[in-house]
Amino acid sequence: MKTIIEPFRIKSVEPIRFTTREERLKLIEIAGYNPFLLHADDVLIDLLTDSGTSAMSSKQWAGIMDGDESYAGSKSFYRFEDAVKKITGFSYIIPTHQGRASEKILFSIIGGPGKYIPNNTHFDTTRANVEFTGAVAEDFLTETGKHPEIRADFKGNMDVPALEKFIIEKGKENIPACMITITNNSGGGQPVSMQNIREVKDVCVKYGIPLFLDACRFAENAYFIKKREKGYQDKPVLEIAQEMFSYADGATMSAKKDALVNIGGFLAMNDEQLAVNCRNLLIVTEGFPTYGGLAGRDLEAVAQGLEEIVDEHYLQYRIRSTEYLGEKLSAAGVPIIEPPGGHAIYIDAKRFLPDIPPDKYPGQSIACALYIEGGIRSVEIGSVMFGKYDSKGKLISPPMELVRLAIPRRVYTQSHIDYVLEIVTEVYRNRSSLKGYRIVYEAPVLRHFTARFEMME
Ligand SMILES: *Cc1c(COP(=O)(O)O)cnc(C)c1O
Repeated sequence: MKTIIEPFRIKSVEPIRFTTREERLKLIEIAGYNPFLLHADDVLIDLLTDSGTSAMSSKQWAGIMDGDESYAGSKSFYRFEDAVKKITGFSYIIPTHQGRASEKILFSIIGGPGKYIPNNTHFDTTRANVEFTGAVAEDFLTETGKHPEIRADFKGNMDVPALEKFIIEKGKENIPACMITITNNSGGGQPVSMQNIREVKDVCVKYGIPLFLDACRFAENAYFIKKREKGYQDKPVLEIAQEMFSYADGATMSAKKDALVNIGGFLAMNDEQLAVNCRNLLIVTEGFPTYGGLAGRDLEAVAQGLEEIVDEHYLQYRIRSTEYLGEKLSAAGVPIIEPPGGHAIYIDAKRFLPDIPPDKYPGQSIACALYIEGGIRSVEIGSVMFGKYDSKGKLISPPMELVRLAIPRRVYTQSHIDYVLEIVTEVYRNRSSLKGYRIVYEAPVLRHFTARFEMME
């Protein structure tokens, strides 16, 4: 087996800015110990997110020049619509400015008090948009997905018996849609098997509930199916993706992930009446149905990105480079969610810092240390992101405390990743010096974006 190389050459470069450890100590303090509040210019390697951070191809940039900026009926919309239809097969394709705009529109229509939305694991914006309408967002992750140390092929799967029990308990009339997030971002970027999608679909059909895919990383999920699920080895990824979508009645999508663009998204479905309602709301909040909050050039870039994302040389490099980081960290003893997911490595902060309890935010502590030691930006996915309070103001923690190292698509080379490995390993070696944190400011929803912290002694 030969080295798997980056399947592109570099035509345009963007310098990154080096800082000293002293500067970073000051900068993270000014940012309230919240990496979201750092200036990106002060970050050396930015692994905050893989969202909207992809490097676009020369063909995508050519599409940017070629975009048709007509208000209505732009040719770029029709190219975009064709590209989305080719992969998803859905009848109605509604462009939005990003994934959460699709969620906002969908749940404003189907959500509301007394309604329940099941998912394998809701992503933070998905949960927020469900809850904002007064509906309840419920997660049904398969048991193996809850154990970071267990290696299994499809740890993003839905717990189907638990889902069915829930539907019976709450009443199918109160469940306007069921969702599956592929790959399961908040659950560790773990894939969902075709068999699981099929089984969820069967339950949905039995109770007359539409199934929606949160399809942000559909191509990565399809590639995992090709590699890991019996019967798919010889199938093109495009066909696997088409089969995944064939079991769904609709999808929400952030094109900032698997459409390789810096902004964009869509909402797609087969139900005509629902599409009419969504488009009416789209006109109020996003724009006319043939641009939906995007410029014509953005639609071109999405259309081109959707062609490039199913390229199997790209996907092989993509999944392997994430796996490479995971393998080396594991070998150095750093506890991570096993096996590595598609778009990110998730450090298991509970095992990394067993002496810092969830209410002192061990994940935040690691994220700050990675910045201070190496200028690397990561994000806590644990009690900061998903923590809630009970009636007495006591923190209710989610099951896992994680730190996500998200890998932007086509942006960093192997030596950048080797540097990341060195820094994480160093922080792990010196973990006994890490401190807990307390929150000194927080917003009522999605608090992780703007919260401010203080380091504890
Ligand atoms: C990013 C993401 C979203 C939201 O998309 P935005 O473009 O950030 O609004 C929803 N679900 C999942 C799984 C995501 O990864």
